[in-house]
Formats: sequence, structure tokens, C-alpha cells
Amino acid sequence: MRWVVLLLAIAVILPTVCLLWFMSRAVKNEHLAVRQKLSDVYSQRLETLSKRVDELWSARLEMLEQQATEERRPVEMFGKLVSQESGTISSRMCDALIIFDSNGKVLYPVTGVGEQPAELSEEFNEAWDVEFTEENFTRAIRLYEYIAESFADDYTRYSALMGKVRCLRKLGDIKQAVAVCERIAYGQIPENVGSSSAALIARARILLVNLKKETKDGLKQKDLQDLISSVINYTPGNGDGFLLMPSGTRVFLLSKALEIIEESKWAEELSAQILKVKKLLSAEQLALVVLDKYYTAVASEPWSEESALKMVSLLRATLDTIQELEWGWTEQLQRQISTVLDSYRARKVTAAAFDRSAFAVSFGSWPEDCLRKLDLPDGIFGMYHNISDKTYLLLQKADSFSFDFDVCGDALEKTGVSCRITDNFGLYACGLKNPEKAAFLKVPLGKFFPGWHVEIHFKDFNIFERTASRRAVIYTWVGLLAIAAMIAAGLLAAQVVGKQIRLNKLKNDFIATVSHELKTPLASMRVLVDTLLEGNYRDQQQVTEYLQLVSKENERLTRLIDNFLTFSRMERNKQAFEMLRAHPAAIARDSAEAVKTKFSRGRCKFEVDIQEGLPDVLADHDAMVTVLVNLLDNAYKYSYDDKHIDLRVFSENSSICFCVSDNGIGMSRRATKKIFSRFYQVDRSLTRCAEGCGLGLSIAKFIVDAHKGSISVESKTGQGSTFTVKLSAVKADSGGKD
Ligand code: ADP
Repeated sequence: MRWVVLLLAIAVILPTVCLLWFMSRAVKNEHLAVRQKLSDVYSQRLETLSKRVDELWSARLEMLEQQATEERRPVEMFGKLVSQESGTISSRMCDALIIFDSNGKVLYPVTGVGEQPAELSEEFNEAWDVEFTEENFTRAIRLYEYIAESFADDYTRYSALMGKVRCLRKLGDIKQAVAVCERIAYGQIPENVGSSSAALIARARILLVNLKKETKDGLKQKDLQDLISSVINYTPGNGDGFLLMPSGTRVFLLSKALEIIEESKWAEELSAQILKVKKLLSAEQLALVVLDKYYTAVASEPWSEESALKMVSLLRATLDTIQELEWGWTEQLQRQISTVLDSYRARKVTAAAFDRSAFAVSFGSWPEDCLRKLDLPDGIFGMYHNISDKTYLLLQKADSFSFDFDVCGDALEKTGVSCRITDNFGLYACGLKNPEKAAFLKVPLGKFFPGWHVEIHFKDFNIFERTASRRAVIYTWVGLLAIAAMIAAGLLAAQVVGKQIRLNKLKNDFIATVSHELKTPLASMRVLVDTLLEGNYRDQQQVTEYLQLVSKENERLTRLIDNFLTFSRMERNKQAFEMLRAHPAAIARDSAEAVKTKFSRGRCKFEVDIQEGLPDVLADHDAMVTVLVNLLDNAYKYSYDDKHIDLRVFSENSSICFCVSDNGIGMSRRATKKIFSRFYQVDRSLTRCAEGCGLGLSIAKFIVDAHKGSISVESKTGQGSTFTVKLSAVKADSGGKD
């Protein structure tokens, strides 16, 4: 038995120890595993992000090429590309665009002040004096009309017409002023109109809106729409073509138009157009900021007196655009002009010129199709792309840039991480601004972003520990469950093995008991029979006595064998009982009859007390007789010489009780709990003297249990015992099986 227990213990303990060891290793490695796993997952996601950003920019460049092949003019391309509908990400091209030719000359936006306006004539100066000094507006109108008809150059003509509009307005002839202004703003425009003239036309359009406000009918929505469409499309107003004007003028025009529209009552209805104007305005401003960076101030000689006078006429032309000034401003204006002249005389005047070489140097070290952060105070990024003889510099602001990455990041932020993108200088570009710790993962961005990186930062630094400990808890639980299952299996196996061992022991006990118990009656019978056969007897009475002894031993032997057979059947569970309606009195009487002869010997007082009119019981009559005979036999066996045995049958609470009591040796309380077990005998040495093998009571209990009854004992050492068997009585009206 011991080695079985040892083996089982090894079978359970060894795997348990191994499991615990593996578990501790697994928990230790979990931290690293979690890191590796997260790193794999996020590397893949970042790869996807890079791929998407690449796809996005490829699509943009494709779109750019498509626009370029449609032979659009630079101004048109600018308008089209920067004001793309921002519905889908791929359709948003760039925030601004600068177009160069193969020599690096900027084609759009128009830099500097554009072409210098022609010097205004003597006649114009006279008209100007009449208007502002004499304030004779009617004469001034005539002079302006003359200039407009007789001078060929566009700028002088437009300036004169603007003067006429001013004078008409001053005279209060708004209707006429509107008509003239309309002619300038939306009338026939000569081919290749100069940029200064274009600026005048643009300003006439703004002035027209203001004039219309002063008319009887007031401003109409259509007037604003005309203004917007001319501003957005840069059209001359009649037919195709574009009004080329310097960027500065264009910014002025766009912001002025925006102001007028936003202040008007149709602001809401025209919101789509307002958005477009805003986009264009910001694009022009952005392009200007970038171009400014690449302008260099070229020193020039102080202006001569003569040149300064030319400047006066220029300044006068500028006055056209100043709408807000009050009428009584002539003196003030002259003062301002002389101040300007003085300052121009004293200082070196700078003229802006585009430094091609500086830009070319930057370009030279800047590979095509690579997004880079520009060396500007604001976050501005650029990428240039060559198509045939033109170079396109696409510009993006940090905001739009972040937007691109947010969309391509595909809700990466929702997974508990923050992205940080660093530019070609290794500086912050977008995403997480000030990370507290080093990046968990850092990978290079796609092919359009050489030198750029995207980093992953965990919002929660303890994520590894927490994920690892969560796993560790799972491992521990699985391990504990496995150990519990192993222990349970071990216990079960121990139980089964124990049962088997007990059964073997039972069998051995049985064989030993059987051989011992059979040997005694057989030996005594053999001695008696041998004696008789040898004729060693005195008389017939001794023969009879010997034969009676043989018969008694035979009877004992038969009972023993009966008990063994019953036990054997019981073990194989083959004892089938024939349950019939039986009378308790008959059972008791038959039992008493069976032991009567034995009990009549010696000093034994045997009393049978059967209650009258007992109900029947459902029982196997013979089996019940066996039970009572066993009990009576024991009462006889375990009593002293002066025996007093009672058999009482009575009913109690719908049960029938069979009570066998004696005045014998009795037994301890502890013994009463064990006597129904197989082969149990209270006192083995004494029992060995008495007949019996410790099976009688276990057989009795088996039979009573099969009858769904109960058997109990009350006993005290030296004071006798009372065994009670209880069976349920058959109810008077219910019929049992007959
Ligand atoms: P056995 O063949 O030994 O009588 P039993 O199963 O009939 O086997 O009884 C088991 C044991 O119970 C007996 O050995 C005896 O010690 C005890 N026992 C049974 N009946 C009595 C009784 N009436 N008085 C005292 N002891 C008894």
C-alpha cells in the first residue's frame, strides 16, 4: 500500500513542481513578450501609415501632372489646386503652390510690384491739380475724359477713367459714376493688359460695389456674385483669360472682397464662395511668405530729384485705391508725399528682386518629390516636383499636415498610443508635442519623407507591467487549476487503488475465514464418524449421541455454507429477493421454530411475544427468517449460561418491529457502530472459541436494506443487547404482490 501511495505522490508532485517552475519562467518572460508583441503590432500599423501617406502623395502628384498636361496656365493651376474641395483627403492638394520655369523664374504668384506703371503725362498732372487743388470737378472730368480718349497706354487711360469716377462721385452723380466704373471693372479689356492696369481694374471692382451701395436701388446680390467670381477666377470679366496682378495686389483684392461679402446680408448664402475666397487668400499669403524668404534686398543708389518726381505721380496713382480717406485731405496728402520724398532722398531705397541663385542652391540640395520643412518661422512644409519645363513647389501648413497624418493613422490614437512625427531636421512636425519618455518605437516614414520619422509613445507608461501582470494572473490560474486537477485525479486514483486493495484483503480474509470455519465442524464430524466406524462405542445410546453430534455439526456446517453463499451472492449483487406480502407473525414463528431445538438445550429461557392483528409486510419471507435466525443465534451465542432471550413483534408508527433481546455479554458503544461490517467481530479470541465468522450481521443488514427497512442495536457491556429490525407495514387498503 505504501509504495502505491508513494508512486501516486510522485505522479502528482513531479508534474506540479515542473508546472510551477514553467509558470515562474513564463511570468518572468511575459514582460519581454508583451513588449515584443506590441512592437510587432505597432510596427505593422506604422508601416500601413507610411504606405498610406505615400499613396496619398502619389495621388496628389498624379493629380498635379494631370492638371499640368491639360496645359493650364500657372494662375489657373494655382486657383484650381489650392482651392480643391476638401471633402476627401486625396482631393486636397496643397495649401499653396509656387510655379517656376526651367530657369527658376517664378511664373506664379507674380512677385514684386509687377511692371512699373508708365509715367503719367503733364495733362494728367493738370487734371489732378484741378481735381484736388481747385476742386473744380466738372473741369477735371472734362480733362480726364480728354486723357482717356487721347492716350493709348492702358494704365493712363484707366487712371483717367478712375479720376472721372471720383469726380462724378464728388459731384453726386452716382448713377454716372457707376456706369463709368462698371466699364473699367467689367468692360472690354485689351489683350495682355499690364499688371498695374489689372490692379486698377480690380480696384474698380471694389469701388463699384461701394458706389452701388450709394445708388437708389442699393447693392444687389448679383453685384457681389460678380465680384466673387471675378476675384476667385481672376477673369477679366469678358470672356476667357486671366487678369495677372502682383501677389500683393491680389491679397489686397481678396481680403477687401472678403470683408465686403462678410459684412453683407448675403454672407450666409454665399458661405461656400467665402470659403473659397478664404482658401485663395491664405494660399496667396502663404506663397508670399515663402517667396519673401527667397527675395534678397538689392541695394540701389539714392533716387535723384527727377526720379523722386516720378515717384509723386506713382503715389498719386496709389491714391486711387485709398477709398477710406475723407474729402478734405489734400493738404494732408501733400505733407505725406513730401515726407515720403524726404525719406526716399535720405535712405537707400530697396527694390525687391527674386534671388534665383539662392533658391537654386536650396533646390540643388533638395531632391525632387521629398517633403521638407522649410526654414521659416511657421511650420511650413514643401515638396517640389518637375513636370516638363516647369517646377512646382507644393506648400503645406502644419495644420493640414497633421490632418493628413491623422487620417492615415487610422485611429491609431484610439489604441492608447500617441504618434509623434519628426521632420527632416529631426524636429517635431506634428502629433505629440512634448513626450515625457523616449519613444517606444521609431520608424522612418515613406518614400516622400527622407529623414522623417514616426514615433509611438504610450499614453500609459505602465501598460507593459499591467498587460504582463494580467497575463501572469491568467497563467497562475491555469497552473493552479492544472495542479488542482492533477491532485484530484491523484486522489481519485488513490481511492480506486485503495478500494481495490481493500477488496483483495476482503477476499483473502474470506478465504482464510472459510477454510478455518469449515475445518472445525468437518474435523469434529470426522472424529465422531471414525469412532463409530471403528466400533468404539459403549451402547446404542452413545451411537445416537454421536450421531446427534454429527447432525448438529452438519447443521452448523450447512448454516455456515448458507451464510457464505449468501455473502458471495451479496458481493456479486445477485441476491434476488422475492418480495411478497408476508405476515410478520409467520416470519417470527418460523424463526423461533428454527432455533427452538437449540434453545431448548441447557438453561435458556426463550420467550416469543407477537402482537395480535399485525398488518402484513412486503418481504421475502425466507430472507427475513434468515435475518431473525441470525439475530437469535447471536443472542444465544453471546449470552452466559443462564440465558434469557426474547423475540417481540409489534407495530409502531406504521412500521413492524422485530426485537431480539438477550441478557448476554453486550458490547461497547464503539463496537455497536462496527458490528454490521463484514468479518467484524468484537472479540476475536472469544469469537474464535464461539462459532461464527463475522458475516451474520452484515448479511442481516444487507437483507433489511434490500427491504428498505432498518436494523439497529442497543447494547451495554455486560447487560445484554437488543437488536431491532423495522419494516414498513403494508397499508390495509393497498394490495401487495401475492
Ligand atoms: P459472528 O459470526 O461472529 O457472530 P456476526 O456478524 O453475527 O458474526 O456478529 C458480529 C459480532 O457482533 C460478533 O462477533 C459479536 O462480537 C457481536 N455480536 C453480535 N450479536 C451480539 C449479541 N447479541 N451480543 C453481544 N455481541 C454480539
